Amino acid sequence: MDLAIINSWVMTCEGKGLGIIKNGGVRVENGRIVFLGKMDEFNYKNAERIIDGKYHHLAMPGLINSHIHSILTLCRGAVHDIPEIEYIPKGLNFFAEHLTFEDFILGTKIAVIEGLKAGTTTFVEYGLGVAGLVNHIYKPYHLSVVPTEMINELSYYEELKPDELYNFHTGMGKAALRRANKLFKQFEDEELIKPMYGPQALDMLSLELLHQIKENAIQRHSKMHMHVAQGERERIQIKKRFGKNQTTVKVLENEDLLGNYLIAAHIHDTTHQERKLLVEKGVGMVGCPSSISKIDGIVPPLADYVELGGIAGIGTDEAPGTGHHNLFNEMKMASLLSKVNNKNPMIMPPWVVIKLATINAAKLLGLDHKIGSLKIGKRADIITIDLKKPHLTPIVSDPFCNLSANLVYSNKGNEVNNVIINGKPIMLESQLIDFNVQEILDNANERAEIIFKKGKEDWIKSGSQMVKYYENGFI
Ligand SMILES: [Zn+2]
Repeated sequence: MDLAIINSWVMTCEGKGLGIIKNGGVRVENGRIVFLGKMDEFNYKNAERIIDGKYHHLAMPGLINSHIHSILTLCRGAVHDIPEIEYIPKGLNFFAEHLTFEDFILGTKIAVIEGLKAGTTTFVEYGLGVAGLVNHIYKPYHLSVVPTEMINELSYYEELKPDELYNFHTGMGKAALRRANKLFKQFEDEELIKPMYGPQALDMLSLELLHQIKENAIQRHSKMHMHVAQGERERIQIKKRFGKNQTTVKVLENEDLLGNYLIAAHIHDTTHQERKLLVEKGVGMVGCPSSISKIDGIVPPLADYVELGGIAGIGTDEAPGTGHHNLFNEMKMASLLSKVNNKNPMIMPPWVVIKLATINAAKLLGLDHKIGSLKIGKRADIITIDLKKPHLTPIVSDPFCNLSANLVYSNKGNEVNNVIINGKPIMLESQLIDFNVQEILDNANERAEIIFKKGKEDWIKSGSQMVKYYENGFI
């Protein structure tokens, strides 16, 4: 597909700022960007498809969701406003346990539709048996994905008691590692599918297996993406297993498991000194501000990590937690929550948070040679945004450009009107081309009604905080 975007603002996300061009255009040939610049230098007339921005569109790199567990989307709204310790055992589990594989697929479709409509072009999909999602959704719909197979050594049949050391089952870990390795062979020739390893967390697998995963990741020029120092549950286990003075970061350091092959999700339970060490070792970070503020009532240390010079990305985690898979929303949350948390309005300005969802996310994933910015030769993963909306008006460029501020603080995500992945239009004029959206939403509502009913009895018996809201007539 030969395509030209004309008469638009262009935000390249290259260089020190955001590389904004007024009255610009982008030309795409065979999935690659071949021209980028001002309209008066742009010869676009022979392009097969022309997207005319009429001076009120913005073209920018497709966004990268660096951490998503999409299979739980049918449980959106199932658990909220309860103590963190109740979140899974007295909340999510009652409904999630009734999800079938078809429900996972349906949930992922909804997450992907929501993400695409809000400008996400690459999804770091983290889950068990992730190949199924790739084969059913990401590959047939021509989407860009980093399938990350979750690896742990826990048994499905043993209840985890936070105060008792978990039992590890080496067979479970080996099987998961085999599934992860298989992804690389299965999708080795796919431009849009770049697998990664997902050791779940330091309290959920043995060091022996973690070393093995590290070796595999390095050998395959891939990375391992792990939940690191997420909170109390992990802290208790780490102290029980490794000694009362130990922390996740200390154990990883002693074991030589910190390096640029590691992507550390969350890191809430770390000190500033530990974060400094992670940055020095080249470890990347993913923060999920909406999800973590909603589940834990805390703000991920993204601002500190960025300030220290670390590479970071943002993700929407899972729908029951975060409530959404909209990266514009997430940029705003990352900025505003960090400002409040630091009592400092200068923390996490727009040019920083936009890069968390574009070029820095690409660097985090080791994919910045392909995606994350608009640059000649890079893959054409491009979105356009209609700026002619009341809440985005006005856009000015003199004496300075207010575009990035409006994009972060005023944008909702539903202004995205065209989505192009690897040069192929996936959404045109706000319509997703290959998805029957209405049918998918209807199916999801039908299935969710059944799932919520199945979980009802046990949920009521749990007597959780949320059950009290229900009994009081609030929900
Ligand atoms: Zn996660």
